[in-house]
Amino acid sequence: MKPVLDELIGRYRPVTEGSLAAYIPELARANPADFAIAVATTDGEVHEAGDSVREFTLQSLSKPFVYGLTLEDHGRERLRAQVGVEPTGDAFNSIIELERHSHRPYNPMINSGAIAVTSLLKGDTAGGKFERILELFARYVGKPVRVDEQVFASERATGHRNRAIAHLLRNFGVLGEEGVGIDEALDLYFRQCSILTNTRDLALMGATLANGGVQPLTRERAIAREYVRDLLSLMFSCGMYDAAGEWAYTVGLPAKSGVSGGILAVVPGRMGIAVYSPLLDSRGHSVRGTAVCRELSERFRLHAFEA
Ligand code: GLU
Repeated sequence: MKPVLDELIGRYRPVTEGSLAAYIPELARANPADFAIAVATTDGEVHEAGDSVREFTLQSLSKPFVYGLTLEDHGRERLRAQVGVEPTGDAFNSIIELERHSHRPYNPMINSGAIAVTSLLKGDTAGGKFERILELFARYVGKPVRVDEQVFASERATGHRNRAIAHLLRNFGVLGEEGVGIDEALDLYFRQCSILTNTRDLALMGATLANGGVQPLTRERAIAREYVRDLLSLMFSCGMYDAAGEWAYTVGLPAKSGVSGGILAVVPGRMGIAVYSPLLDSRGHSVRGTAVCRELSERFRLHAFEA
């Protein structure tokens, strides 16, 4: 596997299309040349190529995992009453994405749904809720995780669109538990987006989902087995926003991307595939990341519906 990953790094390194996510000013400081691929299998093998320990923030890669935690807190019924499971065909930060009658956000992978989900986390204090999020990611990664405070401050200062979405959610009574304030919900959401990872750790997070929720190296359970399929099916239908249909058609794997440039794809029962390259296409997905996932899927016949 390692020679294949090295070959892909060599082949796609010259691709310099795309642009850095500048709407969060701190993300524009990323090095556009950074590029890494990692594959972690359910039996704990990790194959890496490129700058696989270069750190970047999770951004939307955090969404399915935090959704899993709230599923454990509330169960499927309660959560679905508040956030739907339908793809939108719209951009990640769309401001009008609430269902017509219920006013629920369409799904937990877009910002409106993710902010609603995070606002539902159980915990007595905001600090306690965030501790739970940090512990969650530590279980998936197999070691403690931390926040990039500069990225957090940067998004917090400029995230007016997400602030508007949170107000809209509050207006329709679908923002979180009784008493959760807009600022608390947004701070938690911006913080979860600012958790640092690297390509190797991201692949292990994917391998944990591929492995039914058990981290392949530590053997610790990160999420109840019964909810793994919820995360994966939503990643499949909604994880790649307005490119979700094309992704399902060409790559055919549950996946999630983040505007920092990471993409995670999961091959259930087999492996997590992570790619990092911060140059994004017009829909907010890593250009090289998309190309690498497509090629790996073709080459190893990983498409979910491969005959
Ligand atoms: N923190 C980012 C935002 O809310 C996440 C978006 C993404 O990664 O797609 O705008």
